[in-house]
Amino acid sequence: MTGPPAPAPPPWRAPGGGRAEPAVDLATPPDYDRAPMPSADDRQRVLIVEDEPNIASFARMYLEAAGFEVLVAARGDDGLRMAEAEAPHLVILDLMLPGMDGYEVTKRLRHTGQTPIIMLTARDDAVDKVVGLELGADDYLTKPFNPRELVARVRAVLRRADARAVAAGQPQPTTIEADGLRIEVGGREVFAHGEGVALTPKEFDLLVTLIENRGLVLTREQLLERVWGFTFLGDSRTIDVHVRQLRRKLGDACPIQTVWGTGYKVPAKR
Ligand code: CA
Repeated sequence: MTGPPAPAPPPWRAPGGGRAEPAVDLATPPDYDRAPMPSADDRQRVLIVEDEPNIASFARMYLEAAGFEVLVAARGDDGLRMAEAEAPHLVILDLMLPGMDGYEVTKRLRHTGQTPIIMLTARDDAVDKVVGLELGADDYLTKPFNPRELVARVRAVLRRADARAVAAGQPQPTTIEADGLRIEVGGREVFAHGEGVALTPKEFDLLVTLIENRGLVLTREQLLERVWGFTFLGDSRTIDVHVRQLRRKLGDACPIQTVWGTGYKVPAKR
């Protein structure tokens, strides 16, 4: 006896974009990485905002197998509301979403806090990644992705966020002063010739990383690794965009020099 025919699978079509959004790798069961299950109270909470039910349910399955508590929203506006109501430790955010797109959700989340965000994008387009990172996403994955990779990225981003929180709780030394530039490192404030300058978190981290390594040339890859915490092979634009913004905002107080063909540096004190 057979039941009614199975419903047709949903077409892999990005709403509006027309480009395919392929599913995750369905072949591998999520049993690779069974951490001992922590009690419900100390599990970290991850919110997945994704309108493709297959992708959302596989991401959920792998993250739950890895010991996370998982919430899912299928629309951008619902995801934003859940992020505000449930205060997840991390948000996995699709870019193309009904209700509100991932860029807008990121912008609004960054307006109110620093919840780490991993963006999912169907587009293998550097511009989307740069825009996402500019808005304050912590990392991104291009579909189709391996769910193990997703779990690894979630853990890495959470580790970095923990390290930041620990650092934020400690007394921060220091004022950095040089040639018209003053940085209150603990308060994350920057002044150019005495005027306060608003930097994004990544612009601030990039500037401080270069200053802390003054005299050394850092390659774009090293800067991506240190500031974003991952290697973004084959695309140096993220760093270039941020350096350009720093130069625009700080004017002649910007100490960053381009080292042609290599990377950037802040020259050693004379
Ligand atoms: Ca989508």
